[in-house]
Amino acid sequence: MTPHERRAALEQIGAEVSACTACRLHEGRTRAVPGEGDPNTEVVFVGEGPGFNEDREGRPFIGRAGGLLERMLGSIGWQREDVFIANVVKCRPPDNRDPEQDEMDACAPFLRRQLEVLDPAVVVTLGRFSMAAFRPGARIGAVHGSTAPVDPASGAGDALTFSMYHPAYALRNPAVERESFEDMAKVPGVLLQSRERRAAAGSAAPTTTMTTAPAAAAPAALAPVAASAIASLSAAEQAADDASQLTLF
Ligand code: SF4
Repeated sequence: MTPHERRAALEQIGAEVSACTACRLHEGRTRAVPGEGDPNTEVVFVGEGPGFNEDREGRPFIGRAGGLLERMLGSIGWQREDVFIANVVKCRPPDNRDPEQDEMDACAPFLRRQLEVLDPAVVVTLGRFSMAAFRPGARIGAVHGSTAPVDPASGAGDALTFSMYHPAYALRNPAVERESFEDMAKVPGVLLQSRERRAAAGSAAPTTTMTTAPAAAAPAALAPVAASAIASLSAAEQAADDASQLTLF
């Protein structure tokens, strides 16, 4: 698929999303949020669903959580325009509640088609629901910062998935924010790893010149994480998983 064809295919999916009435979430939306980014990227970030600002603007991750995501991308020398950003559900759940299973099922074909078009080397999931779409049964407190092969049925034919906390949760928890910067620092290495897998499998050559140099350290402005904070995070893993979904955006 040429870059032009890829862009056209993504625009077609976006147009279908904007007109979609396949689940109840269309009733309360201001604008659907199909996703945006570089059609030729090697890395796709997948969040959970639009929030208040995203619903108004029709763009993903533009609020405070989006600001943090951009800072984390900046810490590895990337900009949001270098990647593609999408969500598991494309319309805002009322009052930012969790998306329900039938809503995620109804919306899944859009993300699958986007991944088929983009053919990314890496799918970075942000939060528990997007992680569950690629690593069923996993717990984010246990697997954040780690990779797994992507099931080709997801649409990403030959990719690694990398799990991260949702930036909105990181905004409310300095220990998680610190860990999220550390997780993000691993992403260029995951891209290199996936490129090597794809080359060995005879898959497509890299389509970008995204830097994979070692990432900068987390910003000095972030307070060091006390060992006790890490310990309590581990002990409260399930609570964190739950809390991360209470006010996502
Ligand atoms: S959330 Fe997805 S399936 Fe539901 S109405 Fe919006 S685009 Fe359609």
